[in-house]
Amino acid sequence: MTVTPTPTLTPNSPSPERTSVVVVGAGPAGLALGTVLRDAGIDCVVLECETRAFIERRPRAGVIEEWAVDALDRRGLAGNLLKRAERHTACAFRFDGGQHRFSYTELTGRHHFVYPQPLLVTDLVREYADVRGGDIRFGVRDVTVRDVGTDRPTVTYTCAETGEQRVLQGEFVAGCDGARGVTRRALTDAGARVARHDYGIGWLALLAEAPPSADCVLFGMHPDGFAGQMPRSPEVTRYYLQCPPGDDPANWPDDRVWTQLQRRLAADGAAPLTEGRLIEKRVLDMHDYVVEPMSVGRLFLAGDAAHLVAPIAAKGMNLALHDAFLLGDALVAHRAGDDGALSAYSRDCLRRVWDYQEFSQWLSEVYHGISHGDPFRAGTTLARLRRLFTSPAAAAAFAEQYLGTADRY
Ligand SMILES: Cc1cc2nc3c(=O)[nH]c(=O)nc-3n(C[C@H](O)[C@H](O)[C@H](O)COP(=O)(O)OP(=O)(O)OC[C@H]3O[C@@H](n4cnc5c(N)ncnc54)[C@H](O)[C@@H]3O)c2cc1C
Repeated sequence: MTVTPTPTLTPNSPSPERTSVVVVGAGPAGLALGTVLRDAGIDCVVLECETRAFIERRPRAGVIEEWAVDALDRRGLAGNLLKRAERHTACAFRFDGGQHRFSYTELTGRHHFVYPQPLLVTDLVREYADVRGGDIRFGVRDVTVRDVGTDRPTVTYTCAETGEQRVLQGEFVAGCDGARGVTRRALTDAGARVARHDYGIGWLALLAEAPPSADCVLFGMHPDGFAGQMPRSPEVTRYYLQCPPGDDPANWPDDRVWTQLQRRLAADGAAPLTEGRLIEKRVLDMHDYVVEPMSVGRLFLAGDAAHLVAPIAAKGMNLALHDAFLLGDALVAHRAGDDGALSAYSRDCLRRVWDYQEFSQWLSEVYHGISHGDPFRAGTTLARLRRLFTSPAAAAAFAEQYLGTADRY
């Protein structure tokens, strides 16, 4: 791949501050990477465009896979999570008026953990900045990555406090700035390919101030559309409702939301959902993308900056952590003179990424096939669902992908 020249600094630019790794973005990927580097004594600077208070409250994920919890724990990052997270043992599919419980822990001995993303981000900021003394700069603006094809890439930004332009020069830049960041552009400008998949489906993502109505994740496959319940805490529950892509949340007044949730998640013998105040209501257009390769020159992407998995299978934050730990370990090995892991970084991440993307597509058909309006797709979707409860081989395959427990990718 050729690296096209990026604008270099002018003689009027401020003199650069040196560090080893510039990490752009303080989400799960950037913060996990920062703590690995701090632990290894590698200096780094994390740049974040939002405030600390904002990122510690931003609601998103909740489901974390057991291997990811183990990886956090091995690095001393799971203390609060292990005390406070709920351990889930099953999920339930509601379709054809019935409820079908899928007890994955009985099958595999493994769990899902439920721990809201803002709590994990709060823990990671504290570990990186307060406990390990890491350098993190909030509220930065105008972040630009330059010279990634050289051995001295630079990142310029505008300082929140002074409004002055600053320049950081590192050995490496880690682009951990999520789906709406700027670092992916630097990679695609250098020739990386973006593969994208649109589902043509929207989800109304909701957070309700109400306890979960069941002790596990619920998937409702209904002719009106998919609905899901994802417990977040004893007080807050995430719900999803399938809707047209680009729909306006204003089309979903609270009573319409609850009527549709009650209808799509109804099952014989199941109590009605516990309703509560809706504190988040936004439409997500379901799409996935993968940037390949995930690095060029001295710029390495991690997490949503490199690949987005629609929240269909609750995989994005898990992948972000997976990338961050691989990249952190690879940079530590590089410091010790071994470049093997850094060279293999993109390939090693992408195996798990593509596997999770494929599972997400498969699961999307399970969620949305019945409401598509095509009786043929509805028939094959019901066959898939029934197979999970009649074929031990199909159940084992689903559990492995749902929990992300395959040994090798
Ligand atoms: C409704 C919903 C539910 C989800 N549920 C789950 C789930 O249950 N399980 C799961 O695994 N995943 C889930 N996900 C996905 C998960 O939230 C993301 O995959 C995860 O946040 C990715 O982490 P990241 O660190 O790569 O990116 P982010 O969390 O997006 O962090 C990127 C950071 O970079 C900052 N930034 C952006 N641009 C710049 C810039 N130019 N300069 C400096 N900083 C910048 C951002 O402010 C942000 O703090 C869900 C997503 C949504 C939307």
